[in-house]
Amino acid sequence: MHHTRSLELFEQALKNIPGGVNSPVRAFRAVGGNPFFAKSAKGAYLHDVDDNAYVDYVCTWGPSILGHASEPVLVALREAIENGTSFGVPGALEVEMAKRVCSAVPSVEKVRMCNSGTEATMSSIRLARGYTKRDRIIKFDGCYHGHVDALLVKAGSGALTFGYPDSAGIPRAVAADTICLPFNDLEAFQKVMSELGDSIAAVILEPIPANAGLILPDPAFLQLLRSETQRHGIVLIFDEVMTGFRLAKGGAQEILGIHPDLSAFGKVIGGGLPVGAFGGRADIMNCLAPLGPVYQAGTLSGNPLAMAAGIAQLDVLFGEDGFARLEKIGVQLETVYREALEKSGRPWTFSRIGSMFCLYFTQQPIRNLDDVKTADLEAFRNYFHVLLENNVYVPPSQFETCFLSLSHGERELQTTSEALAKAFAG
Ligand code: PMP
Repeated sequence: MHHTRSLELFEQALKNIPGGVNSPVRAFRAVGGNPFFAKSAKGAYLHDVDDNAYVDYVCTWGPSILGHASEPVLVALREAIENGTSFGVPGALEVEMAKRVCSAVPSVEKVRMCNSGTEATMSSIRLARGYTKRDRIIKFDGCYHGHVDALLVKAGSGALTFGYPDSAGIPRAVAADTICLPFNDLEAFQKVMSELGDSIAAVILEPIPANAGLILPDPAFLQLLRSETQRHGIVLIFDEVMTGFRLAKGGAQEILGIHPDLSAFGKVIGGGLPVGAFGGRADIMNCLAPLGPVYQAGTLSGNPLAMAAGIAQLDVLFGEDGFARLEKIGVQLETVYREALEKSGRPWTFSRIGSMFCLYFTQQPIRNLDDVKTADLEAFRNYFHVLLENNVYVPPSQFETCFLSLSHGERELQTTSEALAKAFAG
């Protein structure tokens, strides 16, 4: 396998783009080597500019849940594009999207579209602060909510990968209002609630954290968050940018049986186009301009192409029992991994829920960020590169989660099984 053209492009990119990439994890710094450049993507495969094909377990970091360039999305986009790429006035597709979101997620009575997951969490925080007239917020170690100033404190994803979970450039005063607690730690949360509960605007979390690998929540922990936030008049925000419309029609909150006050969405809901959304209780959402004093806006919000692509994906998922099919593929994939790992004689922990999974090179059960940090990063690097050389692409960091799509099937699992055997040989 050669990467001549990718290397040429990377060298050019380095001259004009910081680090040669438009989002840091793409640079492969955590695993070493150089990134490959995409030529195209179709179904379960990414094709690079040197004509290598990879079974893709990144799925553009979550959005392409039907597979890349799926027919329903392409048809919807072709139709929408003929009508114009942006209107700047309301359009029917925005109404269609809002109807789907509100009927799929019972905790969401009203929803507003924006352009990224970052915007969705940023606006949710502002809204919670405006609604409660309080400043402080609580987040959890290793959860990533986009590159929002107040949320880049002990953050996961790229921030964790590159060793600066607390970004430079964030005013101390902004970070001072963010309290960061260990995930799944009932005692730590209870203590802060009894000391500061009535001064907290919002508790924000990934209900199933997927930016430090994949951490499964203790149901008692989530129940405690729900009851304590209710008791203290705090807005509970579920960041479902990854899990929303991926794990179930109603997202992680449906599986976990907990209704947050607000939810943030992104990724799947945009069908691979830039999108985000946030929504929840009507009394809180009604504080947004033009009804209320909390300002939030966007030139391209509710963009007709993004709406068309997102609606096309949701309709397939909702209409064809997509989530049950994804679970089935997830079970098969897990079997492939477990068989390979059991033969390998290495320490490992495999985490999966539905179409999301992560392999950690540690025996430590994964409950929080400290557990994640016991993983052997050198072993991960080796695993990543052997898989890549054998046409399988997993995220280039131990701290990211892998995604499956409806296009992953027998053939891709076979390729994966062969690549894993090589990665764990010797
Ligand atoms: N929240 C979560 C849980 C995410 O995983 C991400 C991105 N991976 C974001 C928010 C930010 O989304 P975006 O990259 O679209 O700004």
